Amino acid sequence: MFPRKPINSIVAALCFCLVFTSFSPFALAQKKTAPVEATPPPVREAFKFGEVDLEVLEQADLLDVRFERDGLVLADGPVNAFLRRVGQSLIPRDLELERVTWKFRALRDPQPNAFALPNGSIYVTTGLLTLIDNESQLAAIMAHELTHVMRRHTYMHNRSNRKKFLTMNVMAAVGAYAPGGVVGAVITIVTTVAPFIMIATIYGYSRDLEREADLKGIDMMITAEYAPEEMVNVMKLLDRDFEGENVRLFYNDHPSLDERIKYLSNYLGARADKVTHQMELNRERAAYFKTIQPLMRHNLQLTINAGRARSAVFHAQRLVDFHEDSENLFWLAESYRALGPRSPQLTEKELTNSAKKDAAKKRVKRTAEEEERDLLATDAGKENWQKHQQKAEELYRRALNAENPTPVAHRGLGMLYEKLDRKSDAVAEYEKYLELSPTATDRERIQRRLDALKEKLK
Ligand SMILES: [Zn+2]
Repeated sequence: MFPRKPINSIVAALCFCLVFTSFSPFALAQKKTAPVEATPPPVREAFKFGEVDLEVLEQADLLDVRFERDGLVLADGPVNAFLRRVGQSLIPRDLELERVTWKFRALRDPQPNAFALPNGSIYVTTGLLTLIDNESQLAAIMAHELTHVMRRHTYMHNRSNRKKFLTMNVMAAVGAYAPGGVVGAVITIVTTVAPFIMIATIYGYSRDLEREADLKGIDMMITAEYAPEEMVNVMKLLDRDFEGENVRLFYNDHPSLDERIKYLSNYLGARADKVTHQMELNRERAAYFKTIQPLMRHNLQLTINAGRARSAVFHAQRLVDFHEDSENLFWLAESYRALGPRSPQLTEKELTNSAKKDAAKKRVKRTAEEEERDLLATDAGKENWQKHQQKAEELYRRALNAENPTPVAHRGLGMLYEKLDRKSDAVAEYEKYLELSPTATDRERIQRRLDALKEKLK
C-alpha cells in the first residue's frame, strides 16, 4: 500500500514507473523509406475533455515550460531532429488528436527514463538514450509512450484515481527525499508543477493500460519497419541494475518483465520472423552510436556528477569499444577515477532486495566523500582504489598518445596526482592543461588549484 511505504521507496517507485510508463523516440541520421502501411482504419476519437482533464493538461504544459527554463532540455539540434524523425515515423499519418502537439525531446538526466505527457510531449533521458543499442529500441520506447498519449491514458487514469490522489500528501512525501543534481531536479519539478501527473507515475498505469501500450506499440513498430522483438530487448536492458537501486520491489502495478515477454511473444507470433532489409538497417548499432556519441559523452559527465560511477565505466567502455579515440579514452579514464575505492560490479549479495534497502538508507546519510573514506578504511577498498587509479592513469596516457589528443586528459591526470599527493606531477599536468586550453571554461578553477598546490610546495 502506498501510504505505508517509506519515503525512499516512494521516490524509488516513482523513478521506476517513469521508466516504464513512458517510451521515447530517437531518430537515426540515415534516411528511412516511407513506412509500408495497410489501409489504416479511419481514426475516430470519442474522448471528450472535461474540467479535470483540462487541469491535467494545464499541468503538462507547465511542466514543459519548467523543464526548459531549468535547463533540463538538451539543446542538441541533431539529436532532437533524430528523436523527431523516429517519433513521427511511428504516428499514423492521418491521426489528429484534440489538444495534442507532438514534441520529442531529450532530458539531461543520467537515470534511464522516458515518459509521455498527455499534451504530446515525449521525453527521453540522456541516460536511456545512452543505455540502448539502436534506433529500433528507441522506436519501441516511443511507440509505447505514444500509445499512452493516443489512447488518453493519463486522463483516464486521473479520472479513475482522482479521489485517492486528492487525499495523498505527495509534496511531503517527495519533498522529504533529498535529491542531488539533475536526477533530483526532474522529480522535484514534476512534483511541484504537476502533482496529479506525478501521482499517476508513482502508481503507474494499470496493467491493462500498460499491456495495451506494449501491444499497440508492437503494431506501430512493424508498420514503421522496426524489428518488433527490439521491444523485448529494450525491456531486458532496462531491467539491468548497475547501481543497486531498490526500485523493482515497489513496482507492483506493472506487468513483470517475464509476463511482458510472454504476452509480447504470443502477440507477435509468426510476425517475428518477417524481418525486412529496412528493419535490419534500423537495428544497426554503429549508425545509432554515430548519431548519439556526443550525447553519450555529455551523459557521462552527468553520470559521474550523480555518483553513478559503475554505470559510467560501463557506458564509457562501450564508447571506447565503438570508437577508440582520445576523447572516449579520456571519458573511460574519468569513469575509473570516479569509481575510486568502489567495486567495479555489485555482488549477487549486494543486489538482493534487503542489501539494496540498506544501501539506499546509507546513501541518504552519507556523502560520496564519506563513502570513499569508509571504503578506503577496508582492504578491499584500498585494493580497488589502487587498481582503478592505475587504470585511470594508463587511460589518460593513452588518450594523450592518441591522434588529436584532448588536453583535458592533462586536467584528469592533475586531479589524479593531486589525490595521490604527487604534488609536483599534479602541478606539471595542470600547467600543461592551462597552456593547451586557452578558452576552457574551468580555467579559473584549475588556476586556483594550481596556485594552492604551488603554495604547499614552497
Ligand atoms: Zn507505460
